[in-house]
Amino acid sequence: MGTDTRPGKLVVISGPSGTGKTSICNALLERLPNAVWSVSATTRPPRGNEVQGQNYTFVSPEEFERMRADDAFLEAAQYLSHWYGTPAEPARQALGSGCDVIMEIDVQGGVQVARRVPDSVRIFVLPPTMESLKARLEGRNTESAEQLRKRLAVADGEIGFARDSGYYRYFVVNDDLETTITDVINLVEQERNKT
Ligand code: 5GP
Repeated sequence: MGTDTRPGKLVVISGPSGTGKTSICNALLERLPNAVWSVSATTRPPRGNEVQGQNYTFVSPEEFERMRADDAFLEAAQYLSHWYGTPAEPARQALGSGCDVIMEIDVQGGVQVARRVPDSVRIFVLPPTMESLKARLEGRNTESAEQLRKRLAVADGEIGFARDSGYYRYFVVNDDLETTITDVINLVEQERNKT
């Protein structure tokens, strides 16, 4: 199948906060050969266990604005009160060298990527129920009660937006993580085998 020369796939994973997107992305990075993580820039402050340059590139609002003005982002969007964006150049280089690029971005960003890179694979991860989503977010214990309330409030809107936008072809319900990971890997392979 000439795996050495195959073009890389841009894989967009979206879904409400707390649906297990990060675990899915980590599994994709481990199990897909030549997959790389797209490190987003954000103006959100780091959480306790997050590492600068690894989970995110944490930047000031001024720096983010400078990057936007320089047209450095493949996509950028505001989520709650912070900005998030995908630096275009690292993704472009990785794809050019045959790597798959895994991006975990919100639905507004997903739509921008769909328009600019139509052959990207866009997958939206759904929680089994809204109650389970709330339980996961509470269990994660990374947000204040106020932040948690806001994230749950936007979840509904995100799901509706993803459905109505028509830019997400795949919706997977993350009930059992292992099953979801297998499903997502199969979707990516299936998309790769198209033309
Ligand atoms: P969190 O603050 O939980 O890390 O991320 C909040 C939301 O921003 C999540 O839905 C996450 O997928 C999204 N996000 C992370 N990086 C990016 C990015 O580069 N662009 C966009 N549009 N959304 C992002």
